[in-house]
Amino acid sequence: MSEAVERHEFGAEVGRLLDLVVHALYSDREIFLRELVANAADAVDRRRFEALTGGAPGVPEGAAVRIVPDKEARTLTISDPGIGMSKAELTENLGTIARSGTRAFTQSLAETGPGDRPSLIGQFGVGFYAAFMVAERVEVTSRRAGAEEGWTWASEGRGDYTLAPATRAEAGTDIVLHMKPDAEEFLEPLRLRTIIRKWADHITVPITVTQDGK
Ligand code: ADP
Ligand code: MG
Repeated sequence: MSEAVERHEFGAEVGRLLDLVVHALYSDREIFLRELVANAADAVDRRRFEALTGGAPGVPEGAAVRIVPDKEARTLTISDPGIGMSKAELTENLGTIARSGTRAFTQSLAETGPGDRPSLIGQFGVGFYAAFMVAERVEVTSRRAGAEEGWTWASEGRGDYTLAPATRAEAGTDIVLHMKPDAEEFLEPLRLRTIIRKWADHITVPITVTQDGK
């Protein structure tokens, strides 16, 4: 590992939430895609808003959330041309639980029997950590709109994460999921499109599913 890579421990509540999400919601694993695409679309909206209010450069023409499955590499990448995250934002947003909604979710999940858990998903956003239901390693490379440098946050969802400088041609975020062996179904474009069709109606950013190199 190069010297530039920093290792950090997750905030105490993150470990607990990860455990709950990964184990309690197993039968609803496909929601990871909804959570990650919703975040990507939010990021595009935020960039549009910041551009309007001065500050960040605008969203490029034809912006889309791109979902790219690669069966050979066993990765699923979700890219957006959104607001991006600085190093501090990666730490704050992905390394701690700052949001009251997530805390409430953690609590409710702990208090709810397995049969009632699916309905909880509708009530709370599960959030970014849903990625660890299907991925054994998650890499987030992001460049904040207006910043020159990018950063990669990476974790196996077990107590710690790393941060390292990265290059990204433009502002935005790539989430690379290194899929678990039993989650290969989510590398099938048809399966991905079927999942997206269930809930993407209200998402205002185009979503594309394209296999790598095609
Ligand atoms: P929520 O979306 O409910 O805030 P999440 O766990 O889904 O919770 O995400 C946590 C935070 O991480 C978001 O609020 C956002 O600030 C940041 N984030 C996640 N994904 C992205 C992304 N693709 N681009 C920019 N910021 C993101
Ligand atoms: Mg979210």
